[in-house]
Amino acid sequence: MSLAPLPLATKVTVLRGLGPARAAALQEAGLDTLRDLLWSLPYRYVDRGSLRSLGSLELRGFEGPEGGVVTVLGTLQDLRQSTTRVQHMALTEALLTDGTGTLRLLWFNQPYLGRTLKVGERLLAFGSLAMGRHGLEMRGPQFEVMGRGEETPWVRRFLPLYRKLGPLPGRVRQRLVAEALGRAHPPDEWLPLELSRDLPDTLTALRLLHDPPDESEGRALDLGTTPAHQRLAAEELFAFALGVALRRAGRLKRRGLVVPTSPDLRERLKAYLPFKLTGAQRRAFKEIVADLTSGRVMNRLLQGDVGSGKTLVAFLSMAMVAETGGQGALLVPTEVLARQHAASFQRLLGSEAGAMQLLLGGMKAAEKRAALARIASGEARYVVGTHALFQESVAFHQLQLIVVDEQHRFGVKQREALKEKGGDPHWLVMSATPIPRSLALAIFGDLDQSVLDELPPGRQPITTKLHRPEAAERAWEQMRRELAEGRQAFVVSPSIDPSDGGSISGSQGRPGDARSAAFDGGKVQLRDIQAMEALLRGIFPDEGIEVVHGRLKADEMAVRMGRFVAGKAKILLATTVIEVGVDVPNATVMVVDHAERFGLSQLHQLRGRVGRGAHRSHFHMISGSETERLQILVETQDGFRIAQKDLELRGPGEFFGVRQAGLPQFQVADLVRDRALLLRCREAADRALAVGLSETQTEWLRREQVRLRLAEIS
Ligand code: ADP
Ligand code: MG
Repeated sequence: MSLAPLPLATKVTVLRGLGPARAAALQEAGLDTLRDLLWSLPYRYVDRGSLRSLGSLELRGFEGPEGGVVTVLGTLQDLRQSTTRVQHMALTEALLTDGTGTLRLLWFNQPYLGRTLKVGERLLAFGSLAMGRHGLEMRGPQFEVMGRGEETPWVRRFLPLYRKLGPLPGRVRQRLVAEALGRAHPPDEWLPLELSRDLPDTLTALRLLHDPPDESEGRALDLGTTPAHQRLAAEELFAFALGVALRRAGRLKRRGLVVPTSPDLRERLKAYLPFKLTGAQRRAFKEIVADLTSGRVMNRLLQGDVGSGKTLVAFLSMAMVAETGGQGALLVPTEVLARQHAASFQRLLGSEAGAMQLLLGGMKAAEKRAALARIASGEARYVVGTHALFQESVAFHQLQLIVVDEQHRFGVKQREALKEKGGDPHWLVMSATPIPRSLALAIFGDLDQSVLDELPPGRQPITTKLHRPEAAERAWEQMRRELAEGRQAFVVSPSIDPSDGGSISGSQGRPGDARSAAFDGGKVQLRDIQAMEALLRGIFPDEGIEVVHGRLKADEMAVRMGRFVAGKAKILLATTVIEVGVDVPNATVMVVDHAERFGLSQLHQLRGRVGRGAHRSHFHMISGSETERLQILVETQDGFRIAQKDLELRGPGEFFGVRQAGLPQFQVADLVRDRALLLRCREAADRALAVGLSETQTEWLRREQVRLRLAEIS
């Protein structure tokens, strides 16, 4: 039967053997067209040469999560379910055999495996080996069910494996993909030559990845770095970059509010400054002034390492607007931070402090009504607040500038909501953690950037040490010395309840990383914040200790923080609620317990809570594992370097801590791996727009924009 070739935009439902249930599973996964199906690549390629016979297995070289992952193929002989005695976890045990030997497989907390696995079925299993009570075993392996047939699943050297989608097994997907590849019509080239040169065409790339020839490079296939991967990634990233460039072009056409400057205004702003600006602060502010006076809408990202003085730049920008009849709003992620910013704004404003208004969700009704009235009348020219600023009841008199502190904690939708409060206000976004350029582009779209690459003078480097739990006494000793000198101390405990907002997934591997599936039944017991409090009260019986965490009511939190800020309590024990912003110059030592539970950037951010005054400061991490990863904090205080490393280790989603951050969802492109390509695509997009898009490009872009939900990125 010969069939007419199908454009990639054809719905997957044309494929044979796709009943309603399976079609629905594809749809649910967002695989609507042949293009979607084909861009959804195998999650793993198994090299026939890497297969080990069960009789040949030995522990050496394959032990522990750092060891190599072994691939085995065998038949399930025995299957049983039980519960572990100590931790009461569901335990699924299976015996795999291949004629040369047997291997025990164990899974924890996956009781459904007892129903889905069947004795007599063949299983391809990947995992690292460990020595168990009954000999070699594989704990928590990833696996693929190969059915009951005798025939080998290998047609060629590489066997591509697809994730199961609902009722659609990987093997069926393999068949659908093969049919789609056979029937797809080669699409018109839409990438500019500067990107497509040296890369295979689209259909060839797809064939190379779904049915890799024997001479393919196994490692490059797994890492996603073959020219074929580059081809598909370039298509996604180019579409993305075009979308961003188009929005930018649209923004530059919008008329922005012109904030007038004058020598007189400059003098008035200067009068507010408690210190001389650093060169970097002066540069950044100049760039902001240029935006505010340009007649176009400002959309700028202010980046800087912890302690580089972003707040002062934000204040100056808001003062510029406030002094010329407008209102500026500073949006921050937590009430603690909002109060703190409000206090420092009041200090800076001096006799003008009455122009500042705080707005918090937790305010009492009367207090809130008064605040809203002052905001609506324009009496409040500086507004500092949390998410409460998004509420419909908030109306501004003349909102001209929105400054967002620690932007990545806010969702794109919330940003949009705030935008609707004023005509078309200027935006200044400040990021707490330095963000590599490619990622900034991906998450913030077309923002212009200012970078504070200089710390205020007089800062002393922070001594950083890493201790194993049994040597923690060294950290406490240091703390004792600092307290005796009249200084204050932070102690940070990881939050163990995922619902209280302290996301602490620093110790996990990247998604798809075989290591993340590794056995973790032997997890170290976590010392929680209560246990830490008891410990601290034992070590420092005479000191005032305040404890804060995400589950406290806002006013209780403010009271406790207040006692620490005022110096009435010398020790603040906290979860990561103090990660951002908290500014207590007299605090000179921080001890982080279970440092392995934190991301590198998060630790760097925490470290930034000390070293803010004239005294030398100390940062101690206590950790019994992952000492290699944590070492970079000992080595450097360059937040940009730490951020890059963190990003490489954890990927963009974890790096930002929240998925709602509005990262584009690519199928093939990887924002970390393909960052150089993204920057090239951005340049190519500018050039393509300058000469005008071809019809093919316009058509592609339209479809890709829907798929990548590009409209949500501003
Ligand atoms: P971050 O960039 O981390 O938000 P902050 O704005 O909190 O940093 O500033 C860190 C500290 O540096 C604050 O205590 C602030 O008062 C101080 N600071 C800011 N700018 C200067 C400056 N130009 N000279 C001296 N100290 C400064
Ligand atoms: Mg800050």
